[in-house]
Amino acid sequence: MDWQDESACREYDNVLFFGEEGESELEKQAREARAKSVCQRCPVTEPCLEFAMETNQKYGIWGGLTDKERASLKRRRARARRAS
Ligand code: SF4
Repeated sequence: MDWQDESACREYDNVLFFGEEGESELEKQAREARAKSVCQRCPVTEPCLEFAMETNQKYGIWGGLTDKERASLKRRRARARRAS
């Protein structure tokens, strides 16, 4: 995964992107917003997101999207494929 060499998150603790046990919903939302702000200035958002989609990553922020947002994107893509 050469794109990881360019990632804006490589100098951050994984906890920022994956959270930690005992995190409250409010803490999670704040953490995810901080992680997404890192993704916004990342030059490899697209390959990161596609890697997460292809490998079905269940946890964490990838490509600027949460697990729920990736699941939603997956459903939208499946609907679009069926419609075409
Ligand atoms: S898009 Fe976000 S999670 Fe992916 S490599 Fe960039 S900073 Fe890291």
